[in-house]
Amino acid sequence: MSGLSLKYIRKNYGDVRAVDNVSLELQGGALTALLGPSGCGKTTLLRMIAGLEDPSAGSISLGGRDITRLPAHKRKFGMVFQSFALFPHLNVSDNVSYALTIAGTPRGQAAARAHELLDLVQLSAFAERRIGELSGGQRQRVAIARALAQEPDVFLLDEPMSALDAKLREDMQVELRQLQQRLGITTIVVTHDQHEAMTMADQIVVMSQGRVEQMGTPQAIYHQPENAFVADFIGKANFFDGVIAAGQVRLGDHLLQITPPANFIDGSPVRIAIRPEKAALGGQGANLLPAKVTFVRDVGPVRDIHLETSVGPMIVADSDNRQPLRIGDVVQVSLPAAAIHVFPRLQDKVAA
Ligand code: ATP
Repeated sequence: MSGLSLKYIRKNYGDVRAVDNVSLELQGGALTALLGPSGCGKTTLLRMIAGLEDPSAGSISLGGRDITRLPAHKRKFGMVFQSFALFPHLNVSDNVSYALTIAGTPRGQAAARAHELLDLVQLSAFAERRIGELSGGQRQRVAIARALAQEPDVFLLDEPMSALDAKLREDMQVELRQLQQRLGITTIVVTHDQHEAMTMADQIVVMSQGRVEQMGTPQAIYHQPENAFVADFIGKANFFDGVIAAGQVRLGDHLLQITPPANFIDGSPVRIAIRPEKAALGGQGANLLPAKVTFVRDVGPVRDIHLETSVGPMIVADSDNRQPLRIGDVVQVSLPAAAIHVFPRLQDKVAA
């Protein structure tokens, strides 16, 4: 299991800098998700790792060996892209064994390997079927089996589940993750779906405008976002703009009892974030703001309570307090200090 190392990778297309100085250390055997909004450079980065694009600058190494200029076909990487591009005239088994037979593996041996892989992706019963006779999820599993046929050192997937419906997509995320863990293969998945990244990944790389905003475990990314972009892109967050005052944060007429990081000086504009499930209704607790209920969305296990406060709108996700609420009710909302993230205010970096 070889680790993959990217150093100062850049890719320019004319004036467009698609990938900007990306350095990453990806542990061998781990599943890494490249996550970010459309156009942030995920696919370009994956294609450079695959050897399908040359970086404009920087280097890529696998297990300590520089592979920056190694052609794609010499990398022994398995790939699954958005369109699986299976061979419609071949049956399932032949789709999986195709690359092996082309590479000179004897037919019987290639067929045995295909059988093994189809077993792994639970498609043995479909070996003789034509591709046109399969569902979307089954086709996706054929594509995965085909990519794994040559025992790749690294497994690369670009939005592999984008064609599947929501339910199948969730099932496939779990299946693919279990398969990856069983094989222990170093894997990179490109996705713009945070739920997919959180479900599958050991580590998530959040990207925006060609750059890495944060890399960490799903839990670290969610609970300790390093900037407002990450807090906004992963999960939901309420944002308020304030200013550092007397070592605390002033929001409108309120002085919040929180200690911002030491590098913020008085007068600095800040943006604070709090997750909807971390704010609480009721007249107790720290940092109370009066608020008016504007909407209640009860989805069973959680009620999303939309509020208007003197410093702006916010949402509280309420999972246990069953206090009856009506639009127009005036309530107190508490913002616990430990749940408040304080970021420098860089408005252009916050996702729309
Ligand atoms: P999506 O989720 O929409 O696929 P992405 O995060 O994968 O987006 P990329 O496809 O890597 O983004 O594109 C990054 C940027 O580089 C975009 O601005 C895109 O328009 C640009 N780009 C990508 N490929 C090319 C190319 N071959 N020529 C010119 N510009 C390109």
